[in-house]
Amino acid sequence: MSLEFHLNAQDHLKVEDFLSREHSGVSAIVLHTKSAKHQQGAADAAVDKGIDVLYDPRTERLDAPGLTLDGIPGYTGEPYDLAVLASNLGARQKLVDAVLDAHPDSVTMVTPPHFMVRDEREGMLNLALAEATALHTDLPVRPVLTLRARVNQELINRLARDYASAGISSIELRFTPLGGENDGIQKVRSAFAAADVFREQGMRVVLGRSGNVGQAGFALGHVDGFSVGLGQMEHVNHAGDISRQNRPPKLDEDGKRKGGAWQGVYLPGIAATLSMKRARALLEHSDVRTRLGCRIDACGQSLLGPLDDYRSHYMHARAAEVANLLATPEPWRAKRETDRLTRAIELRELVNSSYRADNDPQLNTRTLRSLVDGIEEERTSAVA
Ligand SMILES: [Zn+2]
Repeated sequence: MSLEFHLNAQDHLKVEDFLSREHSGVSAIVLHTKSAKHQQGAADAAVDKGIDVLYDPRTERLDAPGLTLDGIPGYTGEPYDLAVLASNLGARQKLVDAVLDAHPDSVTMVTPPHFMVRDEREGMLNLALAEATALHTDLPVRPVLTLRARVNQELINRLARDYASAGISSIELRFTPLGGENDGIQKVRSAFAAADVFREQGMRVVLGRSGNVGQAGFALGHVDGFSVGLGQMEHVNHAGDISRQNRPPKLDEDGKRKGGAWQGVYLPGIAATLSMKRARALLEHSDVRTRLGCRIDACGQSLLGPLDDYRSHYMHARAAEVANLLATPEPWRAKRETDRLTRAIELRELVNSSYRADNDPQLNTRTLRSLVDGIEEERTSAVA
């Protein structure tokens, strides 16, 4: 396990091309909830290269009303009542069947239906769904657990024990809200500690939808892998997703849908994904373009490469960072990650002070600082 890419509805051709060429650092792709049937080419390319293929059932949205839930497996038109689902074996089986049916044949690992876990009962409901799924497939099952970022330790211990006893060998953890630009060190530490508990039970852990936090956790060995979308899904905000699904889609300045479908341009130098407009302004500026840009593949011919093909750029830039970590002996990975984050903090500050238009928001550095401090803390205690 290492880096995993979630596909958006339109990403599959670029993913297929990318995987057919150089793809070190990438261990899995996750097919789109509603568009998986058009993503067979990407799935075939992945299987051909020994990369896992998963499917994102997105059922964590189904216990709340929404205007965009049509096409999610198990959607009935009415929000699920989790208390009823917990008490009704038949209803759970129906949901499991719908999710299994929605999985394309090309998947190599099955994702059971799942809901956000706020308490023990919802944890046990998720486990029951995972076990029911495992009974109906010969493929390995990898459940998703969405938990509060500051989750109670007893609940984590109980879930890790129970999932391990049920024979689950790998799991995707999502912490909400986590991975935005304003996370404090306590929150990051708590997520990494929770991942450790699952790993101590023998499970492989992927930190789901997590950009810089996922990469730092991977560098430090708290998680076996992490996932991102292409220019999106670098953080988790479950409450935000739920409130957004109930509103008619908002449009950005280019008339594109904001929110889940927003895809930005990744600038490796500042370790951030920005709007096309802002990324363009920075990459066109001769003062900073070489420090922010990318020289991999097609970006080698033009520093505007990330704008011309943000999808391919996103994949090669992210994958290269992970491949570099993998090529670094484990004891040195934390240092390498600290260097990357420190450079990004300095460059963000430079952009804020000298290359920011009046209506551009400041590039926040709190999460990056928390990660740097957290890494430093762990290195110090490892030496002590
Ligand atoms: Zn690039």
